[in-house]
Amino acid sequence: MNTSTTDTSARRLLIVGPPGAGKGTQAVRIAEQLSIPAISTGDIFRANVSGQTELGVLAKSYMDSGEYVPDSVTNDMVRSRLAEDDAQGGFLLDGYPRTLDQVEALDSMLSELETSLDAVLLLVVETEEVVGRLVERGKEQGRSDDTEETIRKRLDVYAEQTAPLIDVYEKRGLVRRVDGMASIDEVTAALREALAG
Ligand code: AMP
Repeated sequence: MNTSTTDTSARRLLIVGPPGAGKGTQAVRIAEQLSIPAISTGDIFRANVSGQTELGVLAKSYMDSGEYVPDSVTNDMVRSRLAEDDAQGGFLLDGYPRTLDQVEALDSMLSELETSLDAVLLLVVETEEVVGRLVERGKEQGRSDDTEETIRKRLDVYAEQTAPLIDVYEKRGLVRRVDGMASIDEVTAALREALAG
């Protein structure tokens, strides 16, 4: 397989999957290989929480309870991030969109930029397994939303509000499913293959 950065034209991408599926880890790897920015809304919110910005103060209460930050706030944040220079040649969005309202907002942002999505990468994992992964991450990284109670809440919110998005993108023929339970390297390789295929 050709692994150069020019072997695929798919450069406007989403990575989707439940909390703990490994989206962040894989997004960074894939984005680096494609020379596009990995844009994680969770990371942007966390940076704002650390910096105690107005956005951070607002986001923190939602994040700590495992709820989604309101769509209007999240959509505005993504709109300005996608307008930055480094995103003009492509991007890998990690953790956005997460609601149907966000899907619509992203559609209009992309049509304003006269572009559209190339593919939606879906990491398929077993729920009970990811709870264990997240509890471990909470201990290692001290993430305040990685307690078992908040993890279960986040999984419920994902099932209720985000899982339905898969159907929407499926109907558009964009979804590429990858087994997220394999090793990190194997998942990266499978994602690359899914993009090339
Ligand atoms: P993540 O790092 O992607 O798991 O996101 C951590 C938390 O940030 C989520 O549980 C939400 O509270 C918030 N968040 C991240 N992305 C979004 C989004 N697209 N919409 C609403 N809230 C989000």
